[in-house]
Amino acid sequence: MSANGALLARSLAHVWNPCTQMKQHEAWPMVPIARSEGAWLYDLDGRRYLDAISSWWVNLFGHCNPRINAQLVEQLGTLDHVMLAGFTHPPVVALSERLSALAPRATDAALSASAGPLGHASYASDGASATEIALKMAFHYWRNLGQPSKQRFIALAGSYHGETLGALSVTDLAVFRDAYAPLLRQPLIVPAPGPASAMPCCPGCTTEALAALEAELKRSAGTVAALIVEPLVQGASGMRMYHPDYLAGARRLCTGHGVLLIADEIMTGMGRTGTMFACEQAGIQPDFLCLSKGITGGYLPLSVVLTTDEVYAAFYDDSSARAFLHSHSYTGNPLACRAALATLDIFAQDGVIAANRARTAALTARARALADHPRVRNFRNLGMIWAFEADGGAPDFARRLFTAALAREVLLRPIGNTVYFMPPYVIDDAQCAHLVDATRDALDAVLQD
Ligand SMILES: *Cc1c(COP(=O)(O)O)cnc(C)c1O
Repeated sequence: MSANGALLARSLAHVWNPCTQMKQHEAWPMVPIARSEGAWLYDLDGRRYLDAISSWWVNLFGHCNPRINAQLVEQLGTLDHVMLAGFTHPPVVALSERLSALAPRATDAALSASAGPLGHASYASDGASATEIALKMAFHYWRNLGQPSKQRFIALAGSYHGETLGALSVTDLAVFRDAYAPLLRQPLIVPAPGPASAMPCCPGCTTEALAALEAELKRSAGTVAALIVEPLVQGASGMRMYHPDYLAGARRLCTGHGVLLIADEIMTGMGRTGTMFACEQAGIQPDFLCLSKGITGGYLPLSVVLTTDEVYAAFYDDSSARAFLHSHSYTGNPLACRAALATLDIFAQDGVIAANRARTAALTARARALADHPRVRNFRNLGMIWAFEADGGAPDFARRLFTAALAREVLLRPIGNTVYFMPPYVIDDAQCAHLVDATRDALDAVLQD
């Protein structure tokens, strides 16, 4: 048996993989990975795969990045972990300061949040936990202000905010939600800006979606704690991109109706959409900014929720009933914070946001071969995300393309018939060329079957 095969058998015996019907692995082997370097993953038999989806949207500067490794090694010899309740430590302080300084600010007062910059950072370990924190804080904020009837949430159609029960409540994807529906609170779902057929969406779509949001805010007046959105790109529902005007309009409506705005930038943050945070492109400041995924460069689980002075002040009191008592054992883990600091160092030292503009242009130019493909629809790009729909694939198109791409040394993971690239920011010209050529070949092979 090959080294791959041996590990696979042991894995199937004892590992229950995420987001997987385990029986499918009878027909479709999973991929054992032994090591990684830069944009490449290597299996146990020496085959390699270009990580074109940044290992589920987390990696930014390549795998086993020497600069992140160096800071982590130093941190390992200094402080591994200490509880954050009643204690603090240099990495969590430095990270909170730097994120506060980087967080989006409103370009005019009408686009602002509850008062003050996003200067207060609360930590957890996964994206879904950040969503939980933002939902609980938003509800508790109104309760502390004597408005406990504000306890509902508005989410966009096709939203994804994670899969713990609270986060799943504001997730509008049947595939994740339906089995657990009896356990979930029902959010108010409003239309997402821009139909899947016209992306980025037209100004008319923005106006219509904002009108629907306004109608919902009026109908549910006095009962809504917050609106939660994925700014500019709804990732899990198929990289649906929409216009920044919607965010600006939603911000104004929320402020006008006394509703908080939660920006879930777990996927869109950390430069993914071409600016450090997607909210910047609309000039808005949300009341809560949720970050995770790329925040540690794809190294360690960490999430953070940033909020304003005004929200923080509503909890600051002699009474512990008014405090935010939420915690996780690993809240603010020093190793994860240090990986995040190393990641922010690379952003600053390498001028990553500006450098990515050239990278985006280069890959977009190469991808012409795909955009012009007769079976490709809706080719679109925002920052370091590219996506398109493939026409006429079989019902199991996603699995077939995944397999065909792996055979061509590329890791793709289509969502239905939506194919997307979300590569690490270190992808070079040769790798871009390989990515586009392999994707086109794989597409032709799969659509021919
Ligand atoms: C991935 C994701 C989450 C959930 O993060 P996990 O770390 O997987 O729990 C939440 N919101 C958005 C927008 C995401 O893309």
